[in-house]
Amino acid sequence: MSVISEVIEKVKAKNPGEAEFHQAVKEVLETLEPTVQKHPEFVKSKIYERIVEPDRAITFRVPWTDDKGEVQVNRGMRVQFNNAIGPYKGGLRFHPSVNLGIIKFLGFEQIFKNSLTTLPMGGAKGGCDFDPKGKSDYEVMRFCQAFMRELFRHIGQDTDVPAGDIGVGGREIGYMYGYYKKLRNEHTGVLTGRALEYGGSLIRPEATGYGAVYFAAEMLATRTKEMKGLRCIVSGSGNVAQYTIEKVNHLGGKCISVSDSNGTIIDEEGIDAKKLAFIIDLKEKRRGRIKEYAAEYKSAKYFDGKGVWDVVREQGIKLDCAFPSATQNEINAANAQAMVKNGCFCVSEGANMPSDLDAIKIYQSGNVLYGPAKAANAGGVATSGLEMAQQSQRFYWSREEVDQNLSRIMKDIHKQCIGAAEAYGKKGDYLMGANIAGFVKVAKAMHAYGIV
Ligand code: NDP
Repeated sequence: MSVISEVIEKVKAKNPGEAEFHQAVKEVLETLEPTVQKHPEFVKSKIYERIVEPDRAITFRVPWTDDKGEVQVNRGMRVQFNNAIGPYKGGLRFHPSVNLGIIKFLGFEQIFKNSLTTLPMGGAKGGCDFDPKGKSDYEVMRFCQAFMRELFRHIGQDTDVPAGDIGVGGREIGYMYGYYKKLRNEHTGVLTGRALEYGGSLIRPEATGYGAVYFAAEMLATRTKEMKGLRCIVSGSGNVAQYTIEKVNHLGGKCISVSDSNGTIIDEEGIDAKKLAFIIDLKEKRRGRIKEYAAEYKSAKYFDGKGVWDVVREQGIKLDCAFPSATQNEINAANAQAMVKNGCFCVSEGANMPSDLDAIKIYQSGNVLYGPAKAANAGGVATSGLEMAQQSQRFYWSREEVDQNLSRIMKDIHKQCIGAAEAYGKKGDYLMGANIAGFVKVAKAMHAYGIV
């Protein structure tokens, strides 16, 4: 058995019931096989065994009171996975599905993603099984304060810098940062995704979506194609989906879908700037459901209870590019087959691990340009890194400056993926390229530190 297969088997045995974590480890480690030959020093110092074990995983009780005065108890967690190349960095997810296996998969992915950004950031992730849906602002505030009451002792601007993810946007970051500041009596860059008034960066809200489209544009350019005139399918209707649609529009493409956990909208006329403003207001201010879009725009069709990719498969919807931007494992083999059959030649993952392992194989055998999440959605954390840099400088950059840096970083990530795939013998394989480029930098740093 190879070193890699042994580690994958050990991870399964030692972490029972953590299916998403097993999946993420398998996806990354299987592509690292060529590094075993090239770097015997990594084998000797057991880097492969060490990198799949988090530095620490903290779970904690989060008690808070709802508007009726009833006590609620949730489980919070923070997995600090690896800080070989910089302070821990990664988002917080508030969603009822959150469990340790999901946070570990996200933290593990984050190590390689952060390494690819070229910025000095380690990998971490955290969250809670709290559901912000249907809660009042005061309930969300009391919950966020209770969550920070424990988290504050584990984070710091040079230790661990959390940010947003599913269910954690500007409102939640505001409540958490306000409480951290109160507890510590200091104003530092301990959270990113903050509003401009208290230390945020221009372009941070847009960055993940914009970055996924910049990455797609780079992939398309390798086949002398451009975004202009392409039909795009987007899933989700949150932060990543919203700014993916905005950037596709900027580049002359057309997005014809959005979704939430209740259903899917297909709008054959395309989602222009005005319709997008409606979605942003619906989701970020009124906190409503996506089905309201169909009541507002007659060109739209609503598919109740259906995910986007099932609608694409069942309705035979044609597409050129796919931007999965909702959650993990939203695309299975049957969906991927239908996407390829319906014309899809480019997938740029805004969400983390949205395609399961079988779906990825179908893209690869179908000659689809496949931008894996850790490369394609790295623009968000990269711009968080730029927010940290501005905070340290006590100086703010213009919108153009941040956007230029983001675009440069996405080009750089694309170049690293292409370069590593070619150097390790699989030209054009973005998955292998992203994993190897992200891994080698972290592994070299771990090796330099000795056995710690
Ligand atoms: P938001 O909470 O802003 O939006 C999430 C969207 O996805 C909502 O429309 C939500 O619908 C939908 N969704 C979430 N879970 C499910 C589910 N289980 N089934 C169907 N739909 C679902 O989150 P973000 O846009 O920030 O995050 C989306 C994805 O992008 C995640 O995978 C996240 O990890 C990833 N990501 C985010 C980054 C960021 O900067 N925000 C950075 C890098 C990656 P509903 O409202 O009904 O729940």
